[in-house]
Amino acid sequence: MASVKVAVRVRPFNQRELDMDAKLIIQMNGKKTGILNSKANTRDESIRYKEFTFDYSYWSHDDDSEEFASQEQVYKDLGTEVVDCAFQGYNACVFAYGQTGSGKTYTMMGSSDNQGLIPRICKALFERMAEDSKRGTTHRVQVSYLEIYQEKVADLLRVTHYGHIQECMNRGNSHRTTAATNMNDVSSRSHAIFTITFVQAGYCDGVPSETVSKIHLVDLAGSERADTTGATGQRLKEGAHINKSLVTLGSVISALAELSIESHGQKKFFIPYRDSVLTWLLKDSLGGNSKTIMIAAISPADCNYGETLSTLRYANRAK
Ligand code: ADP
Ligand code: MG
Repeated sequence: MASVKVAVRVRPFNQRELDMDAKLIIQMNGKKTGILNSKANTRDESIRYKEFTFDYSYWSHDDDSEEFASQEQVYKDLGTEVVDCAFQGYNACVFAYGQTGSGKTYTMMGSSDNQGLIPRICKALFERMAEDSKRGTTHRVQVSYLEIYQEKVADLLRVTHYGHIQECMNRGNSHRTTAATNMNDVSSRSHAIFTITFVQAGYCDGVPSETVSKIHLVDLAGSERADTTGATGQRLKEGAHINKSLVTLGSVISALAELSIESHGQKKFFIPYRDSVLTWLLKDSLGGNSKTIMIAAISPADCNYGETLSTLRYANRAK
């Protein structure tokens, strides 16, 4: 029962887009997201306008529109399911995909007064553990915060910690941003994986039993095509690594989505976990009884038409 859910979230215009008087090319209606090619010089409607259906389409402009989604709403739709999964003993992965500046980190981490999925999921886990411990269950929680840059894994916390998740998160984030300022925004060219390993220990028919679940919350590297024509050395290598791992992730998720449609995996699919460090690290939590959620973050502006269309196609393939 591999289960995959896909959401698209459009952010508000940023200052740069406002300054250049950018046009809004995204429309949302219920679960549908449409994109208008304002430069297409044709009457062919199939070229001028493309529409995709996702599990959720999240708007962020006028907050009285039906499709508007606050951080709270995104958590209610997607985060609570992840928390439920963990308490039932299943693993879950949440990915934020999109070009740099599209809202991946906002959705995953958020800001202190507008928290994203990661802090909300952590808070809910701890609240529910406190409830359950009244009934005799004990819990262990371990977090790790890894960064994959050029197919190499670095630990953003450096040490393994139990509890103190908030502190760990801040520490990991500050390491990530330090690296970003020193090394010309590495954060947009690396994947950040926040993992919560969650052990519930209790008694089942008088016998001690343990259930282990993992939640992986992944802020992916920017999906923008590295301009390989001019790029050399480091940049060329980075672009190739990012491309390869995002393509592999897409293939893995779409194979899993197909598996869940095929009746109980009677048809054999090859899942290419080994083709990138990212999917290899997460392989135990992708597929099987795990829950996978992909959130595609997009810009609303015409100047990002190409990247946005490619993000929507990537998300569409993952369903
Ligand atoms: P990314 O991580 O994809 O590079 P960020 O999450 O840093 O992009 O978002 C870029 C900017 O847009 C940030 O200033 C962020 O606060 C803002 N932003 C992104 N998504 C939203 C949203 N849904 N609502 C309001 N502001 C947003
Ligand atoms: Mg970011």
